[in-house]
Formats: sequence, C-alpha cells, structure tokens
Amino acid sequence: MKTPVRVTVTGPAGQIGYSTLFRIASGAMLGPDQPVELRLLERTNSTSQSALKGVMMELEDCAFPLLHGLMSTTDQKEAFRDTDYALLIGARPRGPGMERADLLEANAQIFNTQGRALDEVAKRSVKVIVVGNPCNTNAWIAMKSAPSLSPKCFSAMLRLDQNRARAQVAKKTGAPVSHIHQVAVWGNHSPTMFPDLSAATVDGRKATDILDAAWIRDEFIPTVAKRGSEIIKARGASSAASAGAAAIDHMRDWALGSAGEWVTMGVPSDGSYGIPEGLVFGFPCVCRNGDYDIVQGLGFDDEAKARIAKTLAELESERDAVKAFLKL
Ligand code: NDP
Repeated sequence: MKTPVRVTVTGPAGQIGYSTLFRIASGAMLGPDQPVELRLLERTNSTSQSALKGVMMELEDCAFPLLHGLMSTTDQKEAFRDTDYALLIGARPRGPGMERADLLEANAQIFNTQGRALDEVAKRSVKVIVVGNPCNTNAWIAMKSAPSLSPKCFSAMLRLDQNRARAQVAKKTGAPVSHIHQVAVWGNHSPTMFPDLSAATVDGRKATDILDAAWIRDEFIPTVAKRGSEIIKARGASSAASAGAAAIDHMRDWALGSAGEWVTMGVPSDGSYGIPEGLVFGFPCVCRNGDYDIVQGLGFDDEAKARIAKTLAELESERDAVKAFLKL
C-alpha cells in the first residue's frame, strides 16, 4: 500500500461535491492502492455546515479502506496545507439580477484567495482542477495568484464537455463510447466551446466519413454546447453526477496517465495553435507520468478557425474584465 496523499475538495456540501467525494474515497480517482486523506473546505454558512456534517457521517459509514483521514475546515490554509490534489468545486452561482460581470467579480475574489493560499502552503507538485464556473477564468485567476507554483499545476474542467461529445457520437453511430477516440473540445467551458470531430475515429474509421457534416454542424455541436442548460430544464438542477464523474476522469488520467487516449483539459496555453500563452484554454491532451502534453500538429478548416477565434475572444474578454478589478 502506498503512502497516503492529501486531497482537498472545496464546496463539499454542494451537489457536485456529494457526487465526487465517495468516488475519491473509494479509489476511483487515484487507484485501488492509493490511500487518501480528505480535507474539505466549506464556508461558515450554517446550512452548508450542517449538510457537510451529514456528508462526513456518510463517508465514515462507507468504511472505505482507502480513506485514511477526513477533516473539514473553513480555513483555506488549513485546507490546502501540503495538499497533493485540489478539486475547486465551490463557486458562487449566478443569483437573481446578477450580471455576468458581477459573477466574474464574485468568483474572482474566491479564486484569488484560494490561489494565494495554494501558493503558500500546497505541495509544489499539487494538481488543481477548477470545476466552479466560469472555470477557465477561475483557473487562470488561481494560477496567476500562485506565482511560486508552476502554471502546469492548474487546470479547468472541460472533460464533461468531451464526455458529452463522445456520448453523442456513440448514440448516433451505435458504437460503444470506448470505440470512439480523438474527440477534442477547444476553448472555454461555455456555449462558445468547439466540440471537434475532425480527427475523431469510430471503430477505427474517420468519424467525418461516417457522420454527415450537417449533423455535426447543426445537431452535434449545439447539443454538446447546450447540454448543461437542457439538463437544468429537465432535472430542475444542474448536472451533478456527470460533472462529478468528469472531475474524477480528469484527475485520474492526469495522475495515472491516459494510456494514449486524448483527454480534453483546460490548461494554460504554451502558445500552441496561436492561443496566447497562459490563457486557460480547452485543448486535447495526452497524459503520462503525472504530466500532460497538448496534442500537436492538428489542422483546422475555416469554420473551425472561426469557432476557435470566437471562444478565444470570449476568454480574452473574461480575462480582461477580471484584470480590471484584480490587478493580476
Ligand atoms: P452547489 O450550489 O450545489 O454547491 C456549491 C457548494 O460550494 C456549496 O456548498 C457552497 O456553499 C460552496 N461554496 C461556495 N463558495 C465556496 C467557497 N468559496 N469555498 C468553499 N465552498 C464554497 O453547486 P454545484 O455543486 O452544483 O456546482 C459547483 C460549481 O460547479 C458551480 O460553479 C457550477 O457552475 C460548476 N459546474 C461546472 C461544470 C464544468 O463542467 N466545469 C459542470 C457543472 C457545474 P454555500 O451553500 O454556503 O454557498
């Protein structure tokens, strides 16, 4: 059995927290031989604290052999001290009458403080996934607030979008998801994202040879982009189980490797594909040895270029809005 690693989860009393914690403790994220110590950061609000108490009681009652420690705190530094993995799920939801700029600003404060705390006390090798929206920009803020950590410690979750994209192709073609590879999602986790099948394969054949271009343009891309709001309409609440599953997939592949599979991660650009350096952008990546590489050498037609330019412009405007009030 390995030495236990520390995993910090923020927003553990929320819906996504509830669908993620039990899987982390069961070994689904870091493997069946990796014990974990869970550190749960929640706000002081009494409703959340009460819900968190119940979640922790249930975690105990699962008697997970890999759960070697469980604590909650409202103190950021205590939560992030020596942490190996941080899942930043808690975020301010959009309230009634709140403009997009208000949402950006409220979350900017949260991720600025959390980035600074990570900078001060987390392990230098920490792997951070930001789930809380707007996740790309929140990850960028946390990264910028943590200058002593490598930018490669920070990522944003676009895996749910990639999982949704693979699932739509599976449904259309009848092939199992495991036979569908090289599906990419580019850009911002927002309706401007670009789900891209140009390199995808289905049962070893090019997806674009099997699937009609009109279906890809008029059904596939909008369905993936609007899936989150369709789920809210149908369920009366936002995606939680699928978001939790995607967070587990993202961290598992980053930590343990993706075995050659393309995984979409929001990561700070290294300038690949002309995306300005540092911007947290969804790229197809391959993970190995606890690290990731952005897949290189892909080409785009004019339509793809326009879609990438659109999602890039949105991310740049979010970054500029945040810069105005955070001085990053
Ligand atoms: P919930 O509202 O159910 O839970 C959020 C939890 O986070 C609450 O318990 C809340 O506490 C807590 N919280 C808020 N701010 C902080 C903070 N600063 N530190 C610690 N905890 C905090 O939301 P969900 O779990 O459904 O969603 C969480 C986030 O994930 C949202 O921003 C959502 O938009 C995003 N999301 C991202 C997806 C992606 O693909 N990237 C997909 C789906 C959702 P309190 O109740 O006291 O406010």
